[in-house]
Amino acid sequence: MILLGKIWKNLREKGETPAYCCEGERISYRQLGQWTGRLCAYLKKNFRQGEAILVYGHKQPMMAAALLACAFGGFPFVPVDQAAPFKRIKAILASARPQAVLAVEHLDCPGIAKLSLEKLEKICLEESDGSDTQLPYPKRSDDEIFYIIYTSGSTGSPKGVRVTCGNLDSFGSWMTELFPNPPAVIINQAAFSFDLSVADLWPAFAWGAEEYVICRQTQKNYPLLFSRLEHSRGELMVTTPSFASLLLADKSFCKTRLPDLNAIFFCGESLSPITARKLLERFPGIRILNAYGPTECTVAVTSAEIGPKEVQLPLLPVGKPKTGVEIRIEKDGIPAVEGEMGEIVILGDSVAAGYTASDLSHSFGIQDGKRCYHTGDMGWLKNGVLYCAGRRDRQVKIRGYRVELQDVEKNLQALPGVEQAAVVCQEAEDGRILRLVAFVILRPGENRTEAEIRALLAHRLPDYMCPSIRLVKAFPLNENGKCDWEQLKEIANGRSDFKDHSDDRE
Ligand code: AMP
Repeated sequence: MILLGKIWKNLREKGETPAYCCEGERISYRQLGQWTGRLCAYLKKNFRQGEAILVYGHKQPMMAAALLACAFGGFPFVPVDQAAPFKRIKAILASARPQAVLAVEHLDCPGIAKLSLEKLEKICLEESDGSDTQLPYPKRSDDEIFYIIYTSGSTGSPKGVRVTCGNLDSFGSWMTELFPNPPAVIINQAAFSFDLSVADLWPAFAWGAEEYVICRQTQKNYPLLFSRLEHSRGELMVTTPSFASLLLADKSFCKTRLPDLNAIFFCGESLSPITARKLLERFPGIRILNAYGPTECTVAVTSAEIGPKEVQLPLLPVGKPKTGVEIRIEKDGIPAVEGEMGEIVILGDSVAAGYTASDLSHSFGIQDGKRCYHTGDMGWLKNGVLYCAGRRDRQVKIRGYRVELQDVEKNLQALPGVEQAAVVCQEAEDGRILRLVAFVILRPGENRTEAEIRALLAHRLPDYMCPSIRLVKAFPLNENGKCDWEQLKEIANGRSDFKDHSDDRE
């Protein structure tokens, strides 16, 4: 495996070069290589290669060593973040049926072999005479499973996506094409249970760079967050647009405080032209990459460079497909014509091996001899460039009328003074939709009222499409740093209060 081969070389040769930094604790390539080697030897001695191992924790340095040890040892790993609710962890354990759990944080999982943090530390630090712990050169074939990442499923149960070594190699090579002069320090925002983190963690180690992680607690503590960012000397940041919007709400997120930051890799949700424009103003000359893809296709399969010209567009492109991938647009099952909207279908070597539960895998298939995945995202192609218009399944019926929630959002965003809008449904007990609720963020300095916005919108949309308006300073974020739609629904349905995290700033 090319990517692991590069990491193997760096772990052996990079010595005291920093490899990983978490909350001020920095470990070198030498140290990380030593931990990985010892852990990998232990796992190979005690567990069956090819069978899954669940790795539980957050971003502690031991997490990095545990993930690497699984990768080198030939164990498909299932990363689970400690913030996951226990019910979800139980569902993942039942679905992935791991042979062991590497518990960097405490986890109750009776009946499964478990290595606690104390045990992991003992293996990494003490239990060795050094003879059998040299990290073996990674020999893994393309169709072996590299990781299984769980995403939310429409059924309410998490779905485990099986990503192969070949998928990851293809992604890694593409990242190197995108960054021919690799950054020295990469800032990570996403938890390792979210596949966006794959875009920083694995390229960082393959490039011999430093992976600088920002932990969940720090992401909620603005003074600490900004101080960490400032000290990171990060050159590339991999993050969601929602997290970047949150950072931009603070004026000090700018080139003066982060002089080394020269690129941001976005993926996971739609990047608005306003967010991109603000970034270009705060960080003159910065490279903004708007990448698109689902977990089922290994992080991202297209990417567009967003510059001063693109930010003038109403919808940013998500770009051209990576090497080894083809994008097709299907309308009612047949190919759409150029520029016509339809479902985005991804073909090629980024398409994962399917879900852990094969009965869910109907969106995977074969077309023209290539693996393909029907994304459920709507979009169109123009001159080979993909535009993503959101989910197919955000279509609802209200009083019998068909409404695309994105349609309402786009109309709100087109109003003067409106920066962002997120529309959810308020439902009756029987699931019927009673009305739409829009959470709206105004541009700085704007002081329009909720009533004024609704009145303006009424000029553009029929009554049944006009939501009630709630002005907010920022959207709540989920554990992956994306807009937390579930929480917005809870708030709209009176089951939760709104906590505006932008108020946490000093
Ligand atoms: P996930 O599997 O959690 O990474 O979510 C994948 C989904 O996020 C995709 O199917 C899209 O709906 C959405 N998405 C990812 N990247 C973008 C993007 N650049 N623009 C718009 N939507 C995106």
